[in-house]
Amino acid sequence: MSTAIVVGSGPNGLAAAVFLAREGVEVTVLEAADTIGGGTRTSELTPGLLHDHCSATHPMAVGSPFLRGLDLARHGLRWCLPEIDCAHPLDSGAAGVLHRSVAETADGLGERDGRRWRRVFGPLAEGYDALAEDIMRPLTQLPRHPLRLAAFGPQALLPADAVARLWRSETARALFAGVAAHAFRPFHRPASAAVGLTIIAAGHRHGWPVAAGGSRAIGDALAALLTEFGGRIETGVRVRSPADLPPADAVLFDLAPRAVADILGDRLPGRVARAYRRYRHGPGAFKVDFAVQGGVPWTNEAARRAGTVHLGGRYEEVAAAERAVHAGRLPERPFVLVGQQYLADPLRSKGDVHPVWTYAHVPHGYDGDATEAVVAQIERFAPGFRERVLDLAVRSPAGFASYNPNYVGGDVVAGANTARQLVLRPRAALDPYSTGVPGMYICSAATPPGAGAHGMCGANAAASALRRLR
Ligand SMILES: Cc1cc2nc3c(=O)[nH]c(=O)nc-3n(C[C@H](O)[C@H](O)[C@H](O)COP(=O)(O)OP(=O)(O)OC[C@H]3O[C@@H](n4cnc5c(N)ncnc54)[C@H](O)[C@@H]3O)c2cc1C
Repeated sequence: MSTAIVVGSGPNGLAAAVFLAREGVEVTVLEAADTIGGGTRTSELTPGLLHDHCSATHPMAVGSPFLRGLDLARHGLRWCLPEIDCAHPLDSGAAGVLHRSVAETADGLGERDGRRWRRVFGPLAEGYDALAEDIMRPLTQLPRHPLRLAAFGPQALLPADAVARLWRSETARALFAGVAAHAFRPFHRPASAAVGLTIIAAGHRHGWPVAAGGSRAIGDALAALLTEFGGRIETGVRVRSPADLPPADAVLFDLAPRAVADILGDRLPGRVARAYRRYRHGPGAFKVDFAVQGGVPWTNEAARRAGTVHLGGRYEEVAAAERAVHAGRLPERPFVLVGQQYLADPLRSKGDVHPVWTYAHVPHGYDGDATEAVVAQIERFAPGFRERVLDLAVRSPAGFASYNPNYVGGDVVAGANTARQLVLRPRAALDPYSTGVPGMYICSAATPPGAGAHGMCGANAAASALRRLR
């Protein structure tokens, strides 16, 4: 029987482990922290309330070609959809509102902009599952649906600024800005539209669900499946050098490229070591989890029913804020994401006190305190919020990096989404999962298709390892 070690139990590490164990490989996962799950952990960051530490909303996981093929429901994973996927309120009191349905979203954007929303996202949403089969793998491989990819590629390569020109109304433009900002990439840069287009299309196809009980249900379900296939997980084991690795036919690192270079040292071919050390990380996240009496008193009614709320005002303001963090400055009003997972999953709350998940985009390695900037952004669209806050828990970029070394400088998306790194991550190679050391692979979100709790990096890396094991 072949053996494999997976270092790191994030969604990609666990997906890789499940993939291999299902094929009869004897798998052991080594996790540095005391709990499994990486970016899918959930716990009581404030007493009695369930807060997601990292990932919260899962259009990419629910539509993941690998996860969809597993019976995770049997191990407790249940998706819950909020009434409204996402709202982006403006100072006027209006909001761009994203519904699961393309038509309903378009209807809310006025005739002209609605028509254009339909034209862009109708075909993308309809063909999303086929498209996902190609964009959730290395783009250097032969596409399975070349026509769909050929239709999507040119749009995705555009700057977000160019795509946003399709819409005239402030609500439509702001709605697109908030989702495009998930790329942590200035909107004038090539391919800065790619992440936003993908997340919106995935949402129109599958919705923006949360996991019942918290995102930890994703990691827990994968771990249960792994155990069923005979795999094992050891927590509290930090791998620092090859000496920490038990003998195995394959080793898969669910880690940042630089960490892999540090662990493998001289064993890594020079060109790979250089590429891993040159791998670029993007801006950071500053997270504040709140316990809020009665929820957030949004002025806009749709925001009160939305699982996710994007705060940053008009398109131009979000664009300027993203440019600033990229240039190393914290804007007075940073872009802030707000998660109200309890709306779809009420058991996370305690009576009328609700967990509200937020983070601001801040410069890479930012060492100041952005708590007040986050509170002010919420207060701007929900006057009276401040008085409702009963408790809070803060995690700065440095806090993220020590919580999980994959979040270098607070970069929670495992690498800058430059045009190059969107296509060739973590380095230019036919097999991006290979480290160049026989039997050793990298499987974290620094590999294709990138960030998200979809497990596809892990599944793809495991497929690569399995080909060689056989
Ligand atoms: C604030 C925040 C919000 C996010 N929001 C979303 C969202 O809403 N939706 C979404 O899809 N994604 C979201 N993400 C991104 C998502 O969480 C990540 O892309 C995903 O978790 C990456 O998975 P991974 O398996 O590659 O790595 P990780 O989840 O980072 O897991 C890596 C694991 O390796 C362990 N480890 C590190 N070093 C070592 C070592 N030397 N030895 C042993 N173990 C080690 C770590 O402890 C960790 O458990 C968010 C992330 C953050 C931080």
